[in-house]
Amino acid sequence: MTEQIEHVQCLIIGSGPAGYTAAIYAARADMKPVMYQGLQPGGQLTITTEVENYPGYPKGTHGPQMMEDFKAQAERFGTDIRWGLVTSVDFNGPVHKVVVDEKTTITADAVIIATGASAKWLGLESEQRLNGFGVSACAVCDGFFFRGQDVAIVGAGDTAAEEATYLAKLCKKVYMIVRRDEMRASKTMQHRVLNTPNIEVIFNSETKEILGGKTVEGAIIVNNKGEERKLDVTGFFVAIGHKPNTDIFKGWLNMDETGYIKTVPGTSKTNIPGVFATGDAQDNVYRQAVTAAGSGCMGALDAERYLVEKGAH
Ligand code: NDP
Repeated sequence: MTEQIEHVQCLIIGSGPAGYTAAIYAARADMKPVMYQGLQPGGQLTITTEVENYPGYPKGTHGPQMMEDFKAQAERFGTDIRWGLVTSVDFNGPVHKVVVDEKTTITADAVIIATGASAKWLGLESEQRLNGFGVSACAVCDGFFFRGQDVAIVGAGDTAAEEATYLAKLCKKVYMIVRRDEMRASKTMQHRVLNTPNIEVIFNSETKEILGGKTVEGAIIVNNKGEERKLDVTGFFVAIGHKPNTDIFKGWLNMDETGYIKTVPGTSKTNIPGVFATGDAQDNVYRQAVTAAGSGCMGALDAERYLVEKGAH
């Protein structure tokens, strides 16, 4: 007996701000969206604490709560939200095949990818334990909480340089910890960092440990001569790059060298008709909840137009 394959009009992969916003729009447009939540339901915001920069929350909210609100709104209009991880895809034919948890095959007329990206971490136990309690991978999101305080940031690329200068405007002192004797960031960004008086760049150094019980109380760094130094900081930012969660689409979708999906500028369209990419899976520049949400909306509107043209909606 052959397995009955479920067919859906609109499949959404991923459940961060992009996925839920796509779901709200798709459900309200009667596209009967089915969403697979992925490994980290709610996405990166579920590992943050306070969110104060999302419009519509004048008193701020918490990342996990915000994602619950997004989910409730998507469910209110009938999104079928399911546990499960999409493990492979086949975008060969007119309908798109997606395999969930390596066993269930679903076909879809339109697929909206909202699988996000993951920040890279140093891999320290203390970093994981204090994540959201002084440790952050997003200066724009969390820098505000450290106004007037001393913070550290690890990394030497454009993101770290940009975030260090951003933090320098808010914080008393910013230590930038660079593992080699030079930065990878563009010369302009390096120049900006080196000419900001309250940024101290510490070259040839790595982080040994982040100190603190409930919140960050300092960090121990060690240089290439083995000398240790304690930094008295209350915030610890990690800016060593992101990895888009797009491995399963390799070979099907056009991507840049890091794996960010390429879309037709100003749209969510990928190189495969009917497959749309939204949020951080295709954005290595803005990476904000609000930009991801906006992009999720674009994904749903593009999918709706595609389905209407195809006569499937
Ligand atoms: P990058 O991959 O460019 O840089 C990562 C940095 O983190 C490198 O300096 C690397 O050090 C360092 N690093 C990696 N792992 C560790 C570790 N375990 N310990 C300490 N340091 C570590 O990532 P970015 O996020 O900075 O940038 C990604 C892309 O986005 C780039 O192409 C960048 O140019 C672009 N971008 C552009 C911006 C702009 O134009 N305004 C703004 C932000 C990003 P090392 O150098 O030693 O390898």
